[in-house]
Amino acid sequence: MTIVNRRYVLATRPEGAPTVANFRLEEQTIDPDRLAEGQVLVRNRFLSVDPYMRGRMNDGRSYAAPQALDQVMIGGTVGEVVATRHPRFAVGDQVALMGGWQEYAVADATTRGAIRPVDGSAIPLSAYLGPVGMPGITAWIGLTRMIEPKAGETVVVSAASGAVGSVVGQLAKLRGLRAVGIAGGPAKCAHVRDELGFDACVDYKAHPDQRSLVHALKAACPYGVDGIFENVGGTILDASMALTNDFGRIAICGMIAAYQGDPIPMAAPLLILTRRLTVRGFIVSEHQTHWATAQAELAAHVASGKIRYHETVSAGIESTPDAFFGLFEGRNLGKQLVRLY
Ligand code: NDP
Repeated sequence: MTIVNRRYVLATRPEGAPTVANFRLEEQTIDPDRLAEGQVLVRNRFLSVDPYMRGRMNDGRSYAAPQALDQVMIGGTVGEVVATRHPRFAVGDQVALMGGWQEYAVADATTRGAIRPVDGSAIPLSAYLGPVGMPGITAWIGLTRMIEPKAGETVVVSAASGAVGSVVGQLAKLRGLRAVGIAGGPAKCAHVRDELGFDACVDYKAHPDQRSLVHALKAACPYGVDGIFENVGGTILDASMALTNDFGRIAICGMIAAYQGDPIPMAAPLLILTRRLTVRGFIVSEHQTHWATAQAELAAHVASGKIRYHETVSAGIESTPDAFFGLFEGRNLGKQLVRLY
């Protein structure tokens, strides 16, 4: 019996903020009896929308190839195997894969890393797209390998209530650091402080001018800033940089304030010289050697409750573009997911 798969393709490349007109919802039929040798058919239960997808929609030089037009939008998913022609996978297995913005995905299990089994019993399945998946691993690599903090140091993280930022601060606390978040609005800051256990959180929306933001951040960082885990860029990065100690380390994980094309100049690059700062950009997928270690630590902390996480979940494939747009408007708290069934 054939399956009807609904999926979003990129129809046109956005200029500035994307709109629904940039995507097209299509139906595709899949015959589970006609899988090729090595293929696995997965019913996606959750799909992930992530800020990096905005960059992939552009046609230009970047660290990864652009999303192809008229092809299913890329993205991580978790789900269950419904048909298989690979001996390592059985019907009913729970898996994580790059399943895309669609209800079903066919994965080539002979390609290394294309699909992997996950255990949804100790840890909820959706967490493999959040604290135990790519965002959590990004937090782990950025903190431990790029910033390399020593106990007692202060780390500032922007977009602190989000999928990556929320894990950065909690890992920092577990390593004996002072963790200071920056997030938009009093509710998000209260969550970061009271639910996630950061030492402090600064609401950048309450401090629209640079002077005021630096002042507020200074109160939260009485010993200065040794590490910056940057997710936003622009004035938020400028404020953190203004408070750096000598030999501070800046991990450039993301610059979401620039993803829609707005220019975000750096206010004081001279500080890199005068304070002998290290600035390192990194892409999580290029640090595969650390993934297993990172994931083991994250899984243990999530299972024991030492790392807490929040999800914002929209329902149904039709909700995917809007869930994605919400990332750029700060509508999500924690990991933004789409639940498909
Ligand atoms: P989040 O869950 O943090 O969601 C995005 C958040 O960013 C929003 O909720 C909003 O929070 C904030 N934001 C959006 N636009 C702006 C803006 N213009 N100014 C200030 N804040 C803004 O997303 P992720 O945790 O998935 O990703 C966080 C960052 O990490 C992104 O920059 C992403 O690209 C990057 N990343 C990088 C990876 C890498 O390999 N280098 C891998 C994964 C993610 P608020 O309401 O607080 O403003």
